[in-house]
Amino acid sequence: MTDLKGKTAIITGGSRGIGAGIAEKFAAYGANVAIIYNGNLEKATEVKQKVESFGTKCEIYKCNVASSEECKQTVKNIVADFGGFEILVNNAGITKDNLLVMMEDEEFDAVIDTNLKGCFNMIKACSRNFIKKKYGKIINISSVSGIMGLAGQANYSASKAGVIALTKVTARELGGKNVCCNAIAPGFITTDMTKDLDSSEEFLKSIPKARLGTPEDVANLAAFLASSMSDYITGETVRVDGGLAI
Ligand code: NAP
Repeated sequence: MTDLKGKTAIITGGSRGIGAGIAEKFAAYGANVAIIYNGNLEKATEVKQKVESFGTKCEIYKCNVASSEECKQTVKNIVADFGGFEILVNNAGITKDNLLVMMEDEEFDAVIDTNLKGCFNMIKACSRNFIKKKYGKIINISSVSGIMGLAGQANYSASKAGVIALTKVTARELGGKNVCCNAIAPGFITTDMTKDLDSSEEFLKSIPKARLGTPEDVANLAAFLASSMSDYITGETVRVDGGLAI
């Protein structure tokens, strides 16, 4: 049984989609939640209310994860508000798809800065707390795009492949401090990010499970990786993709 009672989780990009699903799932298992969002205060407030309905504490923090300074300050604020934390979920992410030959520098840089550097910024800002505590669970949201490489996503695939490598480095460097770091590679999940996706029968045939995933499909694995049931798993990347990348 997954039990996160008494634990505090930081979830980046917790205001919508997969991050919101993880926030609610963690709260259902008893965790307090610190939600980081980028600008959507209304959505972040809705998630806060849902999390609080489970009887756990929730605060929301506006922070651009691409800024190391903002990450440092936000983690300080979270420690002041919650007294510490045990779990970090690096979920904030964006896409700016374009064919390689058409891709602008700005499109490449923005995606790397948010998806990969944002993940690094948060791990760095949180690591001393984990080391002092001799305990921590870090979960990075990568993508099957980072495993397969998808046309039109040179920036995104590279950022998500980088997240997998960063996960392995973190696992090696912090394993001796009792900190686990794993990645989840979702396939196509129904969120704002995929709202323009082709959902024809033809497209669904490319997924062995013949459907898109839900934020809850991803949240179920995140809860396992955040719990003591996964204490001997680190440096791993697990696909939640209905078989898409087999
Ligand atoms: P989404 O619905 O578009 O939500 C993105 C979230 O990230 C929002 O909470 C947003 O905050 C936050 N965010 C974006 N830029 C940020 C920044 N610079 N600093 C802080 N927060 C930022 O996306 P999603 O589909 O749930 O995706 C979540 C993660 O899963 C991403 O890393 C994505 O790459 C990955 N993923 C998604 C899919 C999929 O099919 N959906 C598949 C594979 C991997 P605001 O609400 O304030 O804008």
